[in-house]
Amino acid sequence: MKHHDVIIIGAGAAGLMCAATAGYRGRDVLVLDNAKQAGRKILISGGGRCNFTNQKVEPNNFICSNAHFVKSALARYRSSDFIDLVERHGIEYHERDHGQLFCNDSAKEIVTMLLTECEWAGAQIKLRTEISEISQNEQGQFVLVTDKEHYTCDSLVMATGGLSMPKLGASPYGYHIAQQFGLKLLPTHAGLVPFTWHSEQKQKFEPLSGIAVPSTITSKDGTQFSEALLFTHRGLSGPAILQISNFWKAGETISINLLPGVDARAAIELVLANHPKQSLRNTLSHWLPKRLVEALFDESLLNKAMNQLVHSELELLAIDLESWEILMNGTEGYRTAEVTLGGVDTDELSSKTMEAKSVSGLYFIGEVMDVSGWLGGFNFQWAWSSGVAAGQAV
Ligand code: FAD
Repeated sequence: MKHHDVIIIGAGAAGLMCAATAGYRGRDVLVLDNAKQAGRKILISGGGRCNFTNQKVEPNNFICSNAHFVKSALARYRSSDFIDLVERHGIEYHERDHGQLFCNDSAKEIVTMLLTECEWAGAQIKLRTEISEISQNEQGQFVLVTDKEHYTCDSLVMATGGLSMPKLGASPYGYHIAQQFGLKLLPTHAGLVPFTWHSEQKQKFEPLSGIAVPSTITSKDGTQFSEALLFTHRGLSGPAILQISNFWKAGETISINLLPGVDARAAIELVLANHPKQSLRNTLSHWLPKRLVEALFDESLLNKAMNQLVHSELELLAIDLESWEILMNGTEGYRTAEVTLGGVDTDELSSKTMEAKSVSGLYFIGEVMDVSGWLGGFNFQWAWSSGVAAGQAV
């Protein structure tokens, strides 16, 4: 039986950050993971370039049943701290829309940086290790039975992530351990995920696959995002949809403004005054891709000249363009979701250290808990900040 001060389960974003932080404090740290590679989600993130943080991180960029929970960890390890780390490792990066920061070259650089930090801090990492049992002995130490060795530790950190992308090794193991130790879980569902069509919508909209348009999308609770909307074979995607999926509940419609920043009524009035004989098809084709126009509006309406449209038709047209209400079938689920909403209830954890209030020495960090970020580097920032918070405490 080997003893370590700290064992971290999960060599992902949060686990590696926690390991390096605790290692630098002189703790004897072992990271265990059942995957054959560390940081697999980091490697495929941001289209292979890892959107590792955001220039502007605020607590309201996160979804958590306790809105205050994220504040302490985010304030103590900021995006500027992670940017400093990236710069110290000589990784070149660039900023995209909305303050998102990406590697210039490859997400591999972030994994290499984290593994280097772990090495410098003396934290060991053991991959391909299946943990079959975790218990506590009489001294309050955690006892881990694995397919290789048995271990004891004083602090156990669960950094096993959420359920999204099972093919990358996502598992509910962290939730099982939380339940085993009597911690409450909040229901989980897929977040930052594309929507799927109902079968009758599929026939109509599938040919639009590949079309992207600017949009403002509003969910039933009034949350709004202005970003690109993408039509796919299966449904709707693109940044606007991924963002709104975090706020969508099954059975709810979403409202899509296809002319963001434009007053549709005023624009229609202007065409009516200046080009009264222009067909509606031509009018709309100046504003939206022709295939989209033809899918959204009836042929007979599109063939009418602007001055042949009656007042109620013009009114409906403006409504359809500014607030197209659409009821989607559902989401693509964990298969393609970037995050998992819900998880270990943050009421069970200290917001300063991520330690379970009722189980001394047991910590939860990263996505396994009920904290999910918006699209834009916020999920990694939560992994870094919560990982450091626990790493400073274990
Ligand atoms: P993970 O990084 O998922 O790590 C969990 C680790 O636990 C894994 O190594 C896994 O193998 C291990 N594990 C699981 N079960 C067990 C078990 N039973 N035994 C042992 N080990 C186990 N966020 C951003 O901020 N920016 C992005 O650009 C971005 N892009 C993304 C792209 C995709 C396709 C996906 C799926 C997600 C993306 N995310 C992005 C979200 C981000 O990857 C996660 O929020 C983040 O990785 C969570 O970190 P974590 O350490 O909590 O979990």
